[in-house]
Amino acid sequence: MSTYDYDLFVIGAGSGGVRAARMSAGYGARVAVAEDRYLGGTCVNVGCVPKKLFVYASHFAEEFENARGFGWQTGKSSFQWQTLLDNKNQEIKRLNGIYQGLLDSTGVTLYEQRATVEDAHTVNVAGEQVSTERILVATGGWPTVPNIPGKEHIISSNEAFFIEQLPERVCVVGGGYIAVEFAGIFNGLGVDTTLVYRGPLFLRGFDNDIREHLAEEMRKKGINLQFNSNISSIDKGDGEFQATLDSGESLTTDLIMYATGRHPNTNDIGLEKTGVELNDKGAIIVNEHYQSSVPSILAIGDVTDRVNLTPVATAEGTVLAKALYDEQTVSVDYENIPTCVFSQPNLGTVGLTEEQAREKYNHIDIYKSTFTPMKFALAESNEKTFMKLLVDKTTDKVVGVHMLGPDAGEIIQGIGIAIKAGATKAQFDATIGIHPTTAEEFVTMREPVND
Ligand code: FAD
Repeated sequence: MSTYDYDLFVIGAGSGGVRAARMSAGYGARVAVAEDRYLGGTCVNVGCVPKKLFVYASHFAEEFENARGFGWQTGKSSFQWQTLLDNKNQEIKRLNGIYQGLLDSTGVTLYEQRATVEDAHTVNVAGEQVSTERILVATGGWPTVPNIPGKEHIISSNEAFFIEQLPERVCVVGGGYIAVEFAGIFNGLGVDTTLVYRGPLFLRGFDNDIREHLAEEMRKKGINLQFNSNISSIDKGDGEFQATLDSGESLTTDLIMYATGRHPNTNDIGLEKTGVELNDKGAIIVNEHYQSSVPSILAIGDVTDRVNLTPVATAEGTVLAKALYDEQTVSVDYENIPTCVFSQPNLGTVGLTEEQAREKYNHIDIYKSTFTPMKFALAESNEKTFMKLLVDKTTDKVVGVHMLGPDAGEIIQGIGIAIKAGATKAQFDATIGIHPTTAEEFVTMREPVND
């Protein structure tokens, strides 16, 4: 019998921590979790879930417009921000309860406190020293706000989920998926939206074609995209903000939201006392078994700053619990992780970008298609859907799939299975389409575009 209070002490009840805790407890381990903010972590409280609810909310305006072409007279619509906030908060409370239930039902002890690491086998929870055979750090990440004059006027995505009043004008700063998604949300809700990004085009790391198509579609929807632009200072005026750009121009707005990156949550959690190695961004460096440089201290999820997505954090939690307490030899496959930017339109992707595929393979065939989806055939919308397949000519394997259009996330999830299974272009071609759908285009693209 172990002399420690627990077999596993998890710091952070987010996506990864809860999964690892409840599965480990399910295998018979004595597990505790400490959470000082909210059960379910970033994803449930200030991430994926409220974001997606806001995306749905913001899309209705367009749906009402499009309905006209199909004969609907929808009258004058109006939007109540407070109703959306209240309902969103209620839904999150429900999910917090589900997370509590998951921990309770598996016998995990929950400390609703901040925890810090004391040494390789001790955690400090609100002054109490708790001993444990292993410590799992799953403390996630936190928005990084730049140190510019006037930074006290900036909000991050954390606050954007709770703003009391919807502004008339907003300036979203950043070029990552959170900035792009929030620009779409605000614009859809009728806010005059500007997106400022210091680089030449947002969503660095995604396929260039898809980035360009998204920029075009967002501009068509009325979002003011200001690339190669950066805010150097912010002044508060009478109920509005004046942002001075590097170019010397200024921009007047009612709300400034920064989404310019997140950093791992490793500040002041006691790791320095243990010698756990961090990288230059403060992320915990782990080996393939999620062990830090101190073997009894493990880490998963955003605090390791590798692939910062909920399904990756939960997969890591699952693999860790199986390996530690069920003697299973399993690992997370980080190749071909499908992902979606919930921009408007959605951007779904799996596999390599064209740029990566060209570097990796001698010859690739590229299939592209741009069209108006049937959903808009009778509507006034001029939104285009774009699809792209990348094929390694030598093996015929499909190595990258990219889509910009309604429900791209839903569609690419299915395509992701095919890519994981190593599907060839011939197998895509032999798959019968579901007609009439947008997705069938993926199995009917016949002619590669000229290289
Ligand atoms: P987290 O979920 O962040 O959990 C960490 C927990 O640790 C938190 O609850 C925190 O309060 C707690 N904690 C920290 N320090 C301590 C301490 N000392 N003591 C006790 N508790 C502590 N991912 C997707 O896959 N799809 C999306 O659509 C998506 N959208 C996102 C949108 C936004 C706006 C953001 C910010 C993120 C989004 N993500 C999305 C990313 C996703 O939320 C994260 O990858 C995921 O939550 C990481 O899980 P985690 O367990 O590593 O950390």
